[in-house]
Amino acid sequence: MVQYYCPYCNPKYQFQKQSSNGTLICGLCGEELIKKPFIRLNQIIALVAASSLLLPLIYTFIFLIKNQINPPNKNYQANSNLMIIIKETLS
Ligand SMILES: [Zn+2]
Repeated sequence: MVQYYCPYCNPKYQFQKQSSNGTLICGLCGEELIKKPFIRLNQIIALVAASSLLLPLIYTFIFLIKNQINPPNKNYQANSNLMIIIKETLS
């Protein structure tokens, strides 16, 4: 399903005409018509919506896998030790 439109004329009054070389032209100004990419636009919107829902899920999934491979306990312990050291040096 492809729709054509003229970028210069009011879409209400547009009508298509076929030129001598077979291309569709605007009946009002004679300019070549441009394909309306509304299917692609819908697909892009759908992709953005789907990715906005899926990306956090994928991100948490990757985070969980990473945590299972390298448990962050050591890091937390190191951080708490560092905090204790900082506190001791400050007091
Ligand atoms: Zn036109």
